[in-house]
Amino acid sequence: MTLTLPPVDRIQLVATRRDLHQHPELGFEETRTATLAAERLKSLGYDVKSGVGKTGVVAVRPGGPSDGHRCVLLRADMDALPVEETNDVPYRSRHAGKMHACGHDGHVAIGLEVARRLAAVRLGGTVKLAFQPAEEVSHGAQAMIADGVLDLPKVDAAFGIHLWNDLRVGTVGVMPGPIMASVDEFDITILGRGGHAAAPHQTVDPVLTAAHVVTAIQSLVARRRNPLEEGVVSVTQVNAGHAFNVIPGRADLRGTVRTFGGKFWDDAPSLVEETAQGIAAAFGARAEVRYRRLSGPLVNDERMAALMAEVAAQVVGTDNVTSGVRTMGGEDMSYFLQKVPGCFAFVGSGPKTGRAAPHHSAGFDIEEESLVIGAELMSQVAVRYLGA
Ligand SMILES: [Zn+2]
Ligand SMILES: [Zn+2]
Repeated sequence: MTLTLPPVDRIQLVATRRDLHQHPELGFEETRTATLAAERLKSLGYDVKSGVGKTGVVAVRPGGPSDGHRCVLLRADMDALPVEETNDVPYRSRHAGKMHACGHDGHVAIGLEVARRLAAVRLGGTVKLAFQPAEEVSHGAQAMIADGVLDLPKVDAAFGIHLWNDLRVGTVGVMPGPIMASVDEFDITILGRGGHAAAPHQTVDPVLTAAHVVTAIQSLVARRRNPLEEGVVSVTQVNAGHAFNVIPGRADLRGTVRTFGGKFWDDAPSLVEETAQGIAAAFGARAEVRYRRLSGPLVNDERMAALMAEVAAQVVGTDNVTSGVRTMGGEDMSYFLQKVPGCFAFVGSGPKTGRAAPHHSAGFDIEEESLVIGAELMSQVAVRYLGA
């Protein structure tokens, strides 16, 4: 049986994205976005549950065949970032200090358009849509899973996309295996003994100790990691002191470890701890280390990636589907893909020529044709997975 989806409603899709862009909401504060999504989904005939994972929304297409049939989860993240938008566009953010600087406004708009199209056809299984909060702070997916998003009906496979400015519009990046990195966070406090800047011998200098800790932590990547395993460590915050002539008593460091899994990921907590403690001890200081795992690497299932690549080739043409697009950025879609097989793809949203503004920058924007491609890709993936 062939199945004809209604065409993508580009006008509504763009209008929805621009509306959401003007009203960005940070992680777990997405109440307006969630309400808009829930109302739209209800009007399309979906069974809608709000408050799943605090501000998340789940919609199930009713009338799907009962037990024994497959259920596919389509996921869209909803949150914005604490960034002040600098774009001079009619749909500029209206909320000071908040901005959809990662494209999640587009993900929600695409999710709603996919819901509209799939509601119009008869499918061989159940469609479940998850509008997820708080991706940027890495807690939204876990919160939705804890609230049962993968149960009742039980989800068999999950798909998602990210609009991606590193790829030009009209292209899709999809591949099997790990494509986005694990995200760990560490805080290190170096405790020394303060005193006069002119009499360092009477102090234990936490600033100099911290400088050596930063350098030594970079050596973990250079010397403690198998060079064939991907990994990056960045120290991103350094805080110490408040006067030019006072050696302070403490210094605080903060940073992140990114990997695609493997031994370096396993070892990273103890490596960071031991390095900080060892260096601090050498300087007569003490180190306190707090290490947290935020999300695991995002790993695409081989069969699901092949399915998505095939569909992408139909949507944008074989020549425009690229393998090898990976990033050390993190993505909490990884939690869904740890539980069920699935695939996460990158939909090009950068300009055809010239440089795109990077994700999370104040000048971030997307080529809106990418919304149409994203909606087509996600609709067709669901249809292909479930069968007609
Ligand atoms: Zn982001
Ligand atoms: Zn994102």
